[in-house]
Amino acid sequence: MSKDELIYKKDNIWEIADESMKKEIFAMGEDYKIFLDNSKTERWTTREVIKRAEAKGFVNIETKKDLKAGDKVYRVSKEKTLALFVIGEEDIINGMNIIGSHMDSPRLDLKQVPMYEESEMTYLKTHYYGGVKKYQWIATPLELHGVVINSKGEKIDIVIGADESDPVMYISDLLPHLAKDQMAKKAGEFVEGEDLNLLVGSIPAKDGEKDKVKYNILKILNEKYGIIEEDFISAELEVVPSGKSRDVGLDRSMVMGYGHDDRVCVYTSLEAILETEKPSRTSLAFFVDKEEIGSTGNTGMASKFIENLVIEIVHLLTGEYNTYMGMKALENSYALSADVAACYDPMYKNVYELKNTSELNKGITVVKYTGSRGKSGSNDANPEFVSYVRNIFNENKIVWQTSELGKTDQGGGGTIAFILAEYGMEVLDCGVGVISMHAPYELVSKADVYMTYRGYKAFYQGK
Ligand code: MN
Ligand code: MN
Repeated sequence: MSKDELIYKKDNIWEIADESMKKEIFAMGEDYKIFLDNSKTERWTTREVIKRAEAKGFVNIETKKDLKAGDKVYRVSKEKTLALFVIGEEDIINGMNIIGSHMDSPRLDLKQVPMYEESEMTYLKTHYYGGVKKYQWIATPLELHGVVINSKGEKIDIVIGADESDPVMYISDLLPHLAKDQMAKKAGEFVEGEDLNLLVGSIPAKDGEKDKVKYNILKILNEKYGIIEEDFISAELEVVPSGKSRDVGLDRSMVMGYGHDDRVCVYTSLEAILETEKPSRTSLAFFVDKEEIGSTGNTGMASKFIENLVIEIVHLLTGEYNTYMGMKALENSYALSADVAACYDPMYKNVYELKNTSELNKGITVVKYTGSRGKSGSNDANPEFVSYVRNIFNENKIVWQTSELGKTDQGGGGTIAFILAEYGMEVLDCGVGVISMHAPYELVSKADVYMTYRGYKAFYQGK
C-alpha cells in the first residue's frame, strides 16, 4: 500500500482541477453571485428557487392528481419553506435521498412599532435575528426587505436600497474623538441591541404639530406603498447589508456576500436536484426557515412540513393516505443536513484545531458531529452512514474534507440535523466552509461551492 493510500490528507481543488474544471468553477461563481443577490431574505430566496425550478420543468404539487417515477414537483408553504422532489424508480417506502438546508440568515428585523423621532431625526428600531456581532452592523449601508400586510389583508412588497438609485438605511457610530468610554467596553457591549436604530429621515413636514420629521416619513411611505404606521405591526421587514456580492482575491478565487450561511447550501443542493434525472431513490431537496433562532415556528425544521409532504407524496404515488408508509419512507431515508462549516482562518488560528477543521479550497465538508461543551445538542452521525457518504464521494472523485466547529472548549453550534434524525433516518452534516460566518459579508471559495454542488449531485445519484 502506498503512503498516499495510508495517510489521510486534504487535497486542494485548484491543484487537481484541469482547465475545463476551472472554467466550470468560475462559471458557477458568476451564477452563484446572481442567486445570492436575488435571495436576500427567506421569501426572496423562495421566489428565486421556484423561478429556477420551474425553468427546469418542476411543477407545483397542487396541480398533480398522481405521481410517477421521473416526475418533478415542488411544494411551498407560507413563502418561507419549500421542497423539491424528483420521484425515483424505487418504492419510496425504501427511503429517499434528502438534502435539507436553511434560507434564513442573521440580520436585523424591524420592531412592531419601530418608528420614532428624536431631536428632529427619525429612526426605525430593530431587534436582531440570530447570532450577530452587533458592532458589525453600524456605519454601513443597509437595505430594507420584506412584506407588509395591511388591514385589508393585502400583501405589499417593500424593497428599499437594492437598486443603486435607492436610498439606504444607516445606523450611526460614535466618532473616535469622543469614544473614550465606549472603547473601554467589551466588544459585546459597546453597541447595545437597543442602539441598533436606523436613521431614516431629517426633513420636517410643513404641516402637523409635533414629530414633523416622522410625519413626513410616514407620508412618503403612504404615498409610495399605501401603508400607515399601524401596518408595521403586521409586517415582516428585514434589514440586510446593501450591495451586491463580489469577487475577492486578485485571482478571483473567493466570493464575499451576505447570507452564504446557509444560502450557499440552498444554491448547491438546488443546482444538484435540478440536474437529477430519473434517480433510483426519490430525491428531495428542502429549504427551511428559522434555523438561526432554533428551527422553531411553522416554517422551521421542527414544523411538520416535511412529514406531511412525504405522506402526501405517498398518497399521490399509491392512492392511499397512509401515515405509516410516510413514516417508513422517512425512517429509511438518507439525509445530508446541508449547512455551512467554520472554515479555518489563519488570522484566528488559536480557536481552531487544524486537523479537524475544514480549510478553504479543500472541498465539501463532512461534519460528523456539531454541538458545544461535549457535543451537546449534536446529531452524531453513525459511522456506517459516514462510510456510505465517503464512498460515494471517493467513487465520484469529489474532493471532500472533514470538519468540526473549532476547538472543543471554544464554543459550538448546531444545525437541523438532530431534527431530521428524530425520524430514524441516517443524517450527516455536510456543506461548505465559510470564513467570517454571521458577519454582514461572509466569505466562501468558488472551488468549494462547485465541489459541494458536485458532491450533492453524486449523493442524489446514490450507489
Ligand atoms: Mn447555518
Ligand atoms: Mn448560522
